Amino acid sequence: MTTKITRYLSFVSLALTFVVGVSPLSAQSLLVKNVTLIDGTGAPSVVGASVLVEDGRFAKVANGDITASPGATVVDGTGKFLMPGIIDSHIHLPGGRAGAGNREMVIDRPFGLKSLAAYLYSGVTAFYDSGNNAEYIYQMREDERAGRILSPRIYATVSLIAPPEGHGCCAGGTVVNDYEDGVKKLDALFKMKPDLLKFTRERRGMGPVGRNIPLLEQDLMNKLVAYAHENDIRTTVHVSELALARESIEAGADAFAHTVYLDEANKDFADIVADRGIILSTTMTRIEADTSFLDDPLFVATIPEDARREIRASERFNGSPYTGWLSSLRPAIMKNIKTLHDAGVILAMGTDRSLGPFPHQELRVIVESGISPIEAIRMGTLNAAAYIGVANEIGSIEEGKLADMLLLNADPTVDISNTMEIHSVYKGGVWIDRAALDVPANQ
Ligand SMILES: [Zn+2]
Repeated sequence: MTTKITRYLSFVSLALTFVVGVSPLSAQSLLVKNVTLIDGTGAPSVVGASVLVEDGRFAKVANGDITASPGATVVDGTGKFLMPGIIDSHIHLPGGRAGAGNREMVIDRPFGLKSLAAYLYSGVTAFYDSGNNAEYIYQMREDERAGRILSPRIYATVSLIAPPEGHGCCAGGTVVNDYEDGVKKLDALFKMKPDLLKFTRERRGMGPVGRNIPLLEQDLMNKLVAYAHENDIRTTVHVSELALARESIEAGADAFAHTVYLDEANKDFADIVADRGIILSTTMTRIEADTSFLDDPLFVATIPEDARREIRASERFNGSPYTGWLSSLRPAIMKNIKTLHDAGVILAMGTDRSLGPFPHQELRVIVESGISPIEAIRMGTLNAAAYIGVANEIGSIEEGKLADMLLLNADPTVDISNTMEIHSVYKGGVWIDRAALDVPANQ
């Protein structure tokens, strides 16, 4: 009997943890009033706006007052700024692969859950996982969608497509030998429903000293991209140089997982990319060699001290030839981003850094490249949603969309660093209790 009761009690406490910790979608309505609205579309801010959330979606967005329905939670937005939740269009969720060396596949869910908490704490309400241990990321995505874990919305390629010995072949990649083999393997992957299928087209690997590695044969890549399209699946490609980006355009790719790092993105190229509507993930913090941003309060709040020390000591940041090579690329990449933006290319903020606060640094580098904060915010919200293919559901504060949003204490259109001045985070209209998230700031 005692055992039974104990069991029952522990079941109840588990159930309570579930309810409190995961907070299932609430149907309660929420009104944010008298707020400065930055809707994520690139439109100028609106002072004195009101936003009504019902059943997890934006029910009404107005330039003035809205009368709240009885029982609605009212949030006074006076002196505050409301923007959509941030979306990172390029990460690899930690917990699916070992850190260094041969990138052995692991499944470390506790580590993954901590990473998800850091994303939410940082105001990131969705991301695209651009290559991971398929089993791990697929399960995380299922759990997020079922409301079993507290997490940003997870979208994933599940497993990326690479040639034998090619970039991305290992640590979770799907190796394709020929068309017949490719169709068989893509069919198997399609059962796992990739949100956006990723290919790689990399000749030398990213590094100061290149060694040639195999590429998917052009004709094979063309056919496999077409096969994905026949199955209603959009495609993105890892590229880093101009010639291979052009080949990826020829293959019919819908998006690129990076901008062009190794060559100048000339006007001619930018015009073609704009014309085809190909969306590019910015991934500029991938080449950052200065680590001073790691001391910003949001980074300190979300990344444990030993992990920050490790980042500083890593090859990217430790002053090695690799660091020097990366930092030498920085001005050219910033110029490329500006050229692409000016030509009308849709750029999506993406970090390829896989830690919660990094999108804020990426936004900062985008602005440093000569792009306005309001445009940078669009890249980190609506454009990133478009990259993933979910702009009809998330990415802007517009009626009908899911109510993923951030309330900020300071104006990010005046200083983009103010995206870090987070007052509250909401996912699907549900307030996230940041003080209860498993991040260093709360320990
Ligand atoms: Zn990546």
